[in-house]
This record gives sequence, structure tokens and C-alpha cells, in this order.
Amino acid sequence: MRDDHDHQREVATQIARRAGAIAECELHGELVDNDSAEEAYKLGNSLFDTEFRGVFASRRQMTDIIKEVIDDTGWECGACDRNFSD
Ligand SMILES: [Zn+2]
Repeated sequence: MRDDHDHQREVATQIARRAGAIAECELHGELVDNDSAEEAYKLGNSLFDTEFRGVFASRRQMTDIIKEVIDDTGWECGACDRNFSD
């Protein structure tokens, strides 16, 4: 199950990035939360039966894991943060 979950998190990360819910810092490439989780849920749901078929056990599980991935992403790039506080 652990491996499944890792794969699901990878896919959820892709969904969130494609939807723009998480985005890379332009300077450092670090992922930051873009405050649009709803867009990621929508994208995931629209592709649940096609592109992501078989990856998640249910739509509910998919949105839970997308949320988990976004929650794990900080609001600010750590590298930018360090530069500003120096
Ligand atoms: Zn940065």
C-alpha cells in the first residue's frame, strides 16, 4: 500500500501543478501553494475516468490526496524567504 500511496502522491502533484494549484518559484523552482485547490479537484475529477483511471480507488481518495499534497506545500518559497530575511 505504501508504494501505491507514493505513486498517488506523484500523480496528485502533477494534477495540482497542471491546474496551477501549486506553482514553481520563478527564481528557485521550489513548489509553492497557489491557493487554487478547487482547480486541482476539478481537473482531477474531469480526468478521473480517463487519464488517471486506476490510479485512485475513488474520487474522494483522489481529492484527499490532492489536498494532502497541497497542504504539504508551503505558501512561500523557502529560498526566497531566506533571501529576504538576510
Ligand atoms: Zn524562490
